Amino acid sequence: MENTNMNRRRFFTQILGVGGLVALAPALLKLSSAKAQEKRRSAAPPAAGGAMPMVDPKDPVAKAVKYVEDFKKAPEAKGNHCATCGFYAKKETRNGKEVGTCTIFAGKLVYADAWCASWNKKA
Ligand code: SF4
Repeated sequence: MENTNMNRRRFFTQILGVGGLVALAPALLKLSSAKAQEKRRSAAPPAAGGAMPMVDPKDPVAKAVKYVEDFKKAPEAKGNHCATCGFYAKKETRNGKEVGTCTIFAGKLVYADAWCASWNKKA
């Protein structure tokens, strides 16, 4: 008898557990979808007319590739800089300096005189 009660209790506990998950599933999916949308929005480049931000040398990706805003301050650059890099595309002048896009830093701009360890000679 006691064993039957235990089995019955375990059965209902499991059913309620599964039922609770099924009841929460739509809410969990909605929350997950909202987070994914927010993530996509923050990763997207700015809307037309909005100024693209410059790469911050303190950014973890920038640090990982040893990005510097002035190649003359990086002996490793050996005179190479963004303007001569295959990943660079001139975009505009900002504060009197040429800036452009870089494949490595999507949605951001780099100075033509910047450099990083991923420099690759322009073809
Ligand atoms: S990959 Fe090339 S363009 Fe991009 S930051 Fe490095 S040197 Fe500059």
